[in-house]
Amino acid sequence: MKNLLGGKGANLAEMNLIGVPVPPGFTITTEVCNEFYMIGQEEVVLLLKKEVEAAVAHIETLMNSKFGDIENPLLVSVRSGARASMPGMMDTILNLGFNDEVVEGLIRKTGNARFAWDSYRRFVQMYGDVVLGMKPINKEDVDPFEEILEKIKSEKGVELDNQLEVDDLKKLVTQFKVAVKERTGKEFPTNAYEQLWGAVCAVFNSWMNDRAILYRKMEGIPAEWGTAVSVQAMVFGNMGNTSATGVCFSRDAATGENLFNGEWLINAQGEDVVAGIRTPQQITKIGSQRWAELAQISETERAVKYPSMEEAMPSIYQELNTLQNKLENHYRDMQDMEFTVQEGKLWFLQTRNGKRTGAAMVKIAMDLLHQGVIDEKTAIMRCEPNKLDELLHPVFDKSALKSAPAIARGLPASPGAATGQIVFFADDAAEWAALNRKVVMVRIETSPEDLAGMAVAQGILTARGGMTSHAAVVARGMGKCCISGAGALVIDYKKRTVKIGDEIFKEGDYISLNGTTGIVYKGEIKTQAAEVSGNLSELMELCTKYTRMVVRTNADTPHDAIVARNFGAVGIGLCRTEHMFFEAEKIVAMREMILACNVEGRKKALAKLLPYQKADFKGIFEAMDGCPVNIRLLDPPLHEFVPHDLKGQEDMAKAMNVTPEYIHQRVDSLSENNPMLGHRGCRLGNTYPEITEMQTRAILGAAIELKKAGKDPRPEIMVPLIGIIFEFKNQEEIIRRTAAELFKEEGVEIEFKVGTMIEVPRAALTADRIATSAEYFSFGTNDLTQMTFGYSRDDIASFLPIYLEKKILPVDPFQVLDQNGVGQLIQMAVEKGRKVRPDLKCGICGEHGGEPSSVKFCHKVGLNYVSCSPYRVPIARLSAAQAMIEEDN
Ligand code: ADP
Ligand code: MG
Ligand code: MG
Repeated sequence: MKNLLGGKGANLAEMNLIGVPVPPGFTITTEVCNEFYMIGQEEVVLLLKKEVEAAVAHIETLMNSKFGDIENPLLVSVRSGARASMPGMMDTILNLGFNDEVVEGLIRKTGNARFAWDSYRRFVQMYGDVVLGMKPINKEDVDPFEEILEKIKSEKGVELDNQLEVDDLKKLVTQFKVAVKERTGKEFPTNAYEQLWGAVCAVFNSWMNDRAILYRKMEGIPAEWGTAVSVQAMVFGNMGNTSATGVCFSRDAATGENLFNGEWLINAQGEDVVAGIRTPQQITKIGSQRWAELAQISETERAVKYPSMEEAMPSIYQELNTLQNKLENHYRDMQDMEFTVQEGKLWFLQTRNGKRTGAAMVKIAMDLLHQGVIDEKTAIMRCEPNKLDELLHPVFDKSALKSAPAIARGLPASPGAATGQIVFFADDAAEWAALNRKVVMVRIETSPEDLAGMAVAQGILTARGGMTSHAAVVARGMGKCCISGAGALVIDYKKRTVKIGDEIFKEGDYISLNGTTGIVYKGEIKTQAAEVSGNLSELMELCTKYTRMVVRTNADTPHDAIVARNFGAVGIGLCRTEHMFFEAEKIVAMREMILACNVEGRKKALAKLLPYQKADFKGIFEAMDGCPVNIRLLDPPLHEFVPHDLKGQEDMAKAMNVTPEYIHQRVDSLSENNPMLGHRGCRLGNTYPEITEMQTRAILGAAIELKKAGKDPRPEIMVPLIGIIFEFKNQEEIIRRTAAELFKEEGVEIEFKVGTMIEVPRAALTADRIATSAEYFSFGTNDLTQMTFGYSRDDIASFLPIYLEKKILPVDPFQVLDQNGVGQLIQMAVEKGRKVRPDLKCGICGEHGGEPSSVKFCHKVGLNYVSCSPYRVPIARLSAAQAMIEEDN
């Protein structure tokens, strides 16, 4: 029904069926909208004419009045309604069917001249704006109708529309029509059917207005859906003090609280409540009192000036309350409703499932479950995984955000709210943070050396890089707000300034980032800490009940591991060892290892690193006691670790007791044209076996110490970037030999697995060979995507926006797993691998592990787990449960 009648039309029909009072009407389907764009306006009108006239005649019978009649006129509204709710994006026209004679007839019929003229002037304005193209095109343009209205109000010395009298309203109609004539050269149409067809076509046209197009783009609504048009008999909230109009919600859309609430206005019509022309009043008494408290209005003043509907129209309030309950029970979800009271009679004009915040989403689903309105599976399906993000990160104060000036836009790389002073360098960030200053780190792009700064910053803003750039991945891992690839930023590190448009911001200036929308704001914005409420953990338990595939986390530190464990991760799917090397003494030893000229030199340096690594692993095993921890051997190109600045090189020369020239030469010789395809991954361990030996000793050594202390460490050792089975076998041999030596020395054995990452297409293609040796597969979908597409993930920002715009790519493949390409490699590798090793454990550890549609794909191809950043664990758990429920259905 919704597909054809649009949400509004379908729900109007349904309300009518279940006995909710709705003014009679009919709906022209969304198919006609598509037809309209294919064959054009005139043809469509011809096609519809007969049916529409018959439908209008039906309304006439029900309403006992006649469309266009001057003694007993029927007035209608013409309303838009798409399949998915697009509030306020398209146009609606009220009071259609007026002309100079009809208005007199209506006065004779109702005896209410003010109401009749008020309705007429509203109609001329709306029709002029929507159908005759009088609406201002840009912000500088004034609406000619508003201009006239303002003039008449100021002449009269009143502020509000409802203070105008009959003569003023008459004057408005006359002057409005003159303006129409002046602007369009045509008389305002007086024939009711001419008005109707004009309005119907205008609604179809509004499907393609800029606002609607933009909204569809944001929400992913296809243009082919089209809008329906509902034509409905008018009921009037502007007939005097026993009439009113309003909007209401069956529950609180911000918090989810089960509290009926809404706003209303006496003697008003249509959108007056939301338009902010008059201050609307609260519907319930408790809502009214809460509102007055916030607005600092005394109880006496409130009761007199702004009474609730519950107080002012108690019997209608009772009816409204009963019906809102009925609608919520019928639709089994929170309802957002629109109503009008005409001379003491209540009419519903719209109902829909209300939009809500992430927190409200979870609370409402759980409350409805407890009330027995929905079952457990429905409760899980009601929650949108990505919206859980809002519950997990600090958020901006809503009202503060509204008035904040937006200055730039980038990719919403990691959600949350950050506000602080601009710094450009990691050491400054650390220094300022130590002085309790809040900082936002602004970089062209980040590198591992910036880690310490990122860790203490409120948020990170980069000019370059995509959703899987270093900054983005690390920020998400830290649960830290980040906007990446904000192309409008011109950063000058020397001057310590960033130019955005014409404005220059200096180090120390305040900016704010909304990591959820990618918008950068000038100045400070107030934030609130997010709460993980009891409802969320309850939802998560439900998810566990309905899940086959489990969720692990990508974590490099004990802190991250604990955060993720609290969110329900059951192990570590990827522990990257390289981040551990970036702290003070470790980096010196690391550099010594890389810069050494022979095996002896490397071994000496590695011996210094061993205790550090062991201590790091111990911390992580402890945090994940009893759960598997999958540790990846050293992966990135070595040159990432060496100093590139003169001072750094001189320091290293001193530390190693060699000449600066030597260091300089070594650094030079390490540089590569294409480091991502260069000397990295298992190629390191295969050329420098002593690195693998040291890391194996560190991992298993840490496990042994813990086992001796009565703990239960469960290490998995993972070889990265395999393409050929021999790359793996060679490493496996070193690992197992080293393990055997160590176990003998220590007199303790540890159970462990050796597996590999599948991230080179060749590995996926030869998975059946590789699985003869590897005990598990972990799909590194960041690299696998990079190598399957041939897109460098660090450079994709330069062409991705154009590719998306031209629809060459539907989405960023580094964010949403490409199921047709990369996904096929995964599916094939799993099947091939399990043919030779039926119990082969398979997981995914790329950024995709926390993206709902990718998680669902992983479930479908039979992965045992997904692994994602700590703050995405709940999202992955919910997605995994939904995948299972969808499979069962
Ligand atoms: P939107 O999609 O922007 O919400 P609507 O079609 O719901 O637009 O119309 C806006 C408002 O106009 C409604 O909330 C209602 O108050 C008023 N309205 C629409 N149709 C009628 C009608 N037949 N009688 C009285 N008021 C109406
Ligand atoms: Mg509406
Ligand atoms: Mg990789």
